[in-house]
Amino acid sequence: MFNKTIFRKQQLKFMLLNLLAFTVIFAIFGFIIFGQVQRTLYSHADEELQLFKERLTDAVNGLEGDEVRPMPGKGNQDLSPIDKKRENPNPRIVVIQWDSTGKILNEGEIGSLFYENYLTDYQLDKTQLDEITMTSIDDLYHFRYLLFEDVNEQDDIAYIQLLINVDAEQTIISNFMRLVTICSVIFIILSISASYILSKKMMKPIMLSWNKQAEFVENASHELRTPLTIIQNKLELLLRAPHERIADKFENIALSLSETRRLSKLTSDLLTLARADSAETELTLQNVEIDKLVREVCAPYQEIAESQDKHFWLNLKCPIAINADETRLYQLFVILLDNALKYTVENDSIGVKTYLEDQRVVIEMSDTGIGIKEENMQYIFERFYREDRARSRETGGVGLGLSIAQWIVEKHRGSIKVMKNQNKGTTFIIKLPK
Ligand code: ADP
Repeated sequence: MFNKTIFRKQQLKFMLLNLLAFTVIFAIFGFIIFGQVQRTLYSHADEELQLFKERLTDAVNGLEGDEVRPMPGKGNQDLSPIDKKRENPNPRIVVIQWDSTGKILNEGEIGSLFYENYLTDYQLDKTQLDEITMTSIDDLYHFRYLLFEDVNEQDDIAYIQLLINVDAEQTIISNFMRLVTICSVIFIILSISASYILSKKMMKPIMLSWNKQAEFVENASHELRTPLTIIQNKLELLLRAPHERIADKFENIALSLSETRRLSKLTSDLLTLARADSAETELTLQNVEIDKLVREVCAPYQEIAESQDKHFWLNLKCPIAINADETRLYQLFVILLDNALKYTVENDSIGVKTYLEDQRVVIEMSDTGIGIKEENMQYIFERFYREDRARSRETGGVGLGLSIAQWIVEKHRGSIKVMKNQNKGTTFIIKLPK
């Protein structure tokens, strides 16, 4: 219940974060495109205004210098497009000539329809001098305009205002704005669904590892509690009989000691795995001669096996050295040899074979013991997995050995797998890179 609330809250957080990220990306994208469209559309009108202004200024200067200017539309076939535009001004441009008191001087030229309908109340606004500005007349018609001081001092004109109608551009921009708004709504709906799916996907591995961790802690506590309870009981028994001799309570003491050993092994295995999980443990790499190491690890096991009437054999054909962590490899072989001894009986045999295959060193550890059921083979590397719990308890196993073995092999970028040994028993095959 508690976990579910935390997970749900976390998922909601992920979802909102995803949604925010999507929205910010889309908003930036939209602003850039919208700004670009607006700029491109108006840039054409602005260019026309500038050209018109240059033409007017040139005309005044030409007049002063008695220069003869060509007539619009005539004799200008060889001119560049810009010069052509300068000679043939855009008919959309309206020129307003203001005197210094803010009165329009050229009402007649503007056209009475336009002047009477729209310009009678229009005021001169000098705040944006020499800057192309946006304005609207009666909130109906949109214009870009350029206001500048008249350079000709021989007339009453103080300011010239060039207006160009940009209603067509404005319509395109409004339509584009509508399109962007509709797209935004669709995008937000899609983002919500995408964020939900993504947040669910993000939560999956977290939930999995959380559950695994919780299971691990539960199993570990359970495994720790059993020996602790046994030790506590035995010690209480001893405490109740303080005058008894040690020899009479030998069994209790021996059992407590064996459970203490079990506890000590368990805690050290748990620590190894906890460190492996937090990626805290690094390998100490050095040149390791595989056959030499195998021979060294096997020597005491050979003696124990023979003392238990088990046959022990070695077939070592890998005289090379590889870059590996000797202590970890030693630990790996000990885990496998311990198991081989644990799960074999009298007259069984245990053997280690090494050889080179492609670019890999192969180590095979086989035994003719009780074997592992084929359907259980996929589970044996899982933490705390034991095929037969009762038997494992007898042999002292808690089901962590093979998890550690797998971690060591994977840390060396190798592989470990288990298979049935020819007729009877188990074979572990380890492959390590050269
Ligand atoms: P344990 O400490 O119980 O041996 P391991 O992780 O080493 O834990 O092994 C997990 C389980 O795999 C064991 O409980 C046992 O059932 C099975 N197993 C491992 N090695 C062998 C083997 N050589 N022969 C038969 N079963 C084995």
